[in-house]
Amino acid sequence: MLSDDLTLREKIIEVLKNTETPLTVDDIIALLELRHSDRRLVYDAILHAAKSLNRKSHGRLEIVMVPPYCMKCGYLFKDLRKPRKPSKCPRCKSERIAPPRFIVREKT
Ligand SMILES: [Zn+2]
Repeated sequence: MLSDDLTLREKIIEVLKNTETPLTVDDIIALLELRHSDRRLVYDAILHAAKSLNRKSHGRLEIVMVPPYCMKCGYLFKDLRKPRKPSKCPRCKSERIAPPRFIVREKT
Protein backbone atom coordinates (compact mmCIF):
# COMPACT_ATOMS: atom_id res chain seq x y z
CA MET A 1 0.00 0.00 0.00
CA LEU A 2 2.87 2.35 -0.75
CA SER A 3 0.83 4.80 -2.82
CA ASP A 4 -1.93 5.04 -0.21
CA ASP A 5 0.74 5.73 2.34
CA LEU A 6 2.25 8.55 0.32
CA THR A 7 -1.15 10.09 -0.18
CA LEU A 8 -1.79 10.10 3.55
CA ARG A 9 1.53 11.87 4.14
CA GLU A 10 0.71 14.48 1.52
CA LYS A 11 -2.74 15.03 2.97
CA ILE A 12 -1.26 15.48 6.44
CA ILE A 13 1.24 18.03 5.13
CA GLU A 14 -1.56 19.97 3.45
CA VAL A 15 -3.68 19.99 6.61
CA LEU A 16 -0.75 21.12 8.76
CA LYS A 17 0.15 23.84 6.26
CA ASN A 18 -3.35 25.26 6.18
CA THR A 19 -4.07 25.35 9.89
CA GLU A 20 -3.79 28.47 12.05
CA THR A 21 -3.16 26.56 15.27
CA PRO A 22 -1.28 23.29 15.90
CA LEU A 23 -3.42 20.15 15.53
CA THR A 24 -3.58 16.90 17.47
CA VAL A 25 -3.68 13.55 15.73
CA ASP A 26 -7.37 13.37 16.62
CA ASP A 27 -7.92 16.72 14.86
CA ILE A 28 -6.13 15.37 11.78
CA ILE A 29 -8.22 12.20 11.89
CA ALA A 30 -11.42 14.26 12.03
CA LEU A 31 -10.32 16.57 9.19
CA LEU A 32 -9.24 13.74 6.90
CA GLU A 33 -12.20 11.55 7.89
CA LEU A 34 -9.99 8.71 9.01
CA ARG A 35 -10.81 6.12 11.64
CA HIS A 36 -9.75 6.56 15.24
CA SER A 37 -8.13 3.15 15.04
CA ASP A 38 -5.72 4.74 12.54
CA ARG A 39 -4.01 6.83 15.24
CA ARG A 40 -0.78 4.87 15.19
CA LEU A 41 -0.74 5.07 11.40
CA VAL A 42 -1.14 8.85 11.54
CA TYR A 43 1.67 9.30 14.09
CA ASP A 44 3.88 7.21 11.85
CA ALA A 45 2.86 9.17 8.76
CA ILE A 46 3.68 12.47 10.52
CA LEU A 47 7.20 11.23 11.22
CA HIS A 48 7.72 10.37 7.54
CA ALA A 49 5.89 13.50 6.37
CA ALA A 50 8.32 15.61 8.42
CA LYS A 51 11.27 14.04 6.63
CA SER A 52 9.83 14.34 3.14
CA LEU A 53 8.65 17.93 3.71
CA ASN A 54 12.11 18.92 4.86
CA ARG A 55 13.59 17.35 1.73
CA LYS A 56 11.01 18.68 -0.74
CA SER A 57 11.18 22.24 0.60
CA HIS A 58 15.00 22.10 0.74
CA GLY A 59 14.88 22.71 4.47
CA ARG A 60 12.63 25.75 4.19
CA LEU A 61 9.55 24.18 5.80
CA GLU A 62 9.32 21.91 8.80
CA ILE A 63 6.69 20.13 10.86
CA VAL A 64 6.96 21.45 14.39
CA MET A 65 5.71 19.39 17.34
CA VAL A 66 4.26 21.09 20.39
CA PRO A 67 5.26 18.50 22.99
CA PRO A 68 2.69 16.58 25.04
CA TYR A 69 2.31 17.56 28.68
CA CYS A 70 0.78 16.27 31.90
CA MET A 71 -2.54 18.00 32.62
CA LYS A 72 -2.13 17.37 36.33
CA CYS A 73 1.38 18.58 37.16
CA GLY A 74 2.43 20.28 33.93
CA TYR A 75 5.34 17.94 33.17
CA LEU A 76 6.53 18.58 29.60
CA PHE A 77 7.62 15.63 27.46
CA LYS A 78 10.38 17.50 25.67
CA ASP A 79 12.75 14.79 24.57
CA LEU A 80 10.47 12.40 22.69
CA ARG A 81 12.34 10.73 19.86
CA LYS A 82 9.14 9.88 18.01
CA PRO A 83 5.81 11.71 17.92
CA ARG A 84 3.37 9.91 20.19
CA LYS A 85 1.08 10.40 23.15
CA PRO A 86 2.77 9.09 26.31
CA SER A 87 0.47 7.00 28.47
CA LYS A 88 1.68 8.14 31.87
CA CYS A 89 3.45 11.05 33.54
CA PRO A 90 6.88 10.01 34.88
CA ARG A 91 6.63 12.62 37.67
CA CYS A 92 3.13 12.26 39.14
CA LYS A 93 1.96 9.04 37.39
CA SER A 94 -1.17 10.74 36.10
CA GLU A 95 -2.64 9.37 32.88
CA ARG A 96 -4.20 12.69 31.90
CA ILE A 97 -1.72 13.61 29.19
CA ALA A 98 -2.43 16.30 26.60
CA PRO A 99 -1.41 14.83 23.22
CA PRO A 100 1.30 16.41 21.07
CA ARG A 101 0.18 18.93 18.44
CA PHE A 102 1.65 19.60 15.02
CA ILE A 103 1.93 22.44 12.53
CA VAL A 104 4.01 23.30 9.46
CA ARG A 105 6.21 26.34 9.91
CA GLU A 106 8.73 28.17 7.81
CA LYS A 107 12.17 27.83 9.27
CA THR A 108 13.66 31.12 10.36
ZN1 LIG B 1 2.29 14.76 36.01
